[in-house]
Amino acid sequence: ENGRTPLMAGNWKMNLNHLEAIAHVQKLAFALADKDYDAVEVAVLPPFVDLRSVQTLVDGDKLKIKYGAQDLSAQDSGAYTGEISGSMLAKLKCSYVAVGHSERRQYHGEGDELCNAKVKAAYRHGITPILCVGEGLDIRKAGQQVPYTLAQVDGGLKDVPAEQVESIVIAYEPVWAIGTGEVATPEDAQEVCGAIRGRLAELYSQELADKVRIQYGGSVKSGNIAAIMAQPDVDGALIGGAALDADEFVKIVRFRD
Ligand code: PEP
Repeated sequence: ENGRTPLMAGNWKMNLNHLEAIAHVQKLAFALADKDYDAVEVAVLPPFVDLRSVQTLVDGDKLKIKYGAQDLSAQDSGAYTGEISGSMLAKLKCSYVAVGHSERRQYHGEGDELCNAKVKAAYRHGITPILCVGEGLDIRKAGQQVPYTLAQVDGGLKDVPAEQVESIVIAYEPVWAIGTGEVATPEDAQEVCGAIRGRLAELYSQELADKVRIQYGGSVKSGNIAAIMAQPDVDGALIGGAALDADEFVKIVRFRD
């Protein structure tokens, strides 16, 4: 046992309408209520507009389902039309916020500098970032997945102090495996997750690196989660498509059963 509680986080992306979102969280609540899930932490990342309702459901139920947002602004307030700040998310008691998801990097031009500012913004408001990193297919084909991903880790964590980083979650998500049905092999996931932990030890300390949870993400399903979780440096998963089906998500959460 390494002392790290696995985190299974469902990234809903821009899916589910409001009623579906509520029904989904209710289903999770019922399905996970019969057992003590201290051993696995569960979180959902709904669209911003659903957070208030999710908060109400989760609070009311005393469940250990955590929730968070898929993005936040690097700014705390002001003339930034369309943006959502960390302070707004903190008001809604979000535990987590994804930063630098590959879809943000790809479609919204988010680079490491902005991701770094967003990581700092999240910590200013007491929200734990899930920093997403990972290489595209061209980089993988060139065998450069480790240096490429570690550069994203370095950039995202620049000048972030150890007291904050020890609580961070890093999601290794090879872009070629996201939403494609093509899952990385457990060995591929371990190679990069292990390298990320090694980098944290270099940048901070081995003690800190041993505390940080590193997730794998990319076409995770109930059928492949156990093999991925068997890797020593994989501490959970960020789940997209399979998290939209409550039954499937519950099966992933219960991978040990
Ligand atoms: C994701 O969006 O973070 C993700 C891993 O998606 P999927 O599980 O659908 O590949």
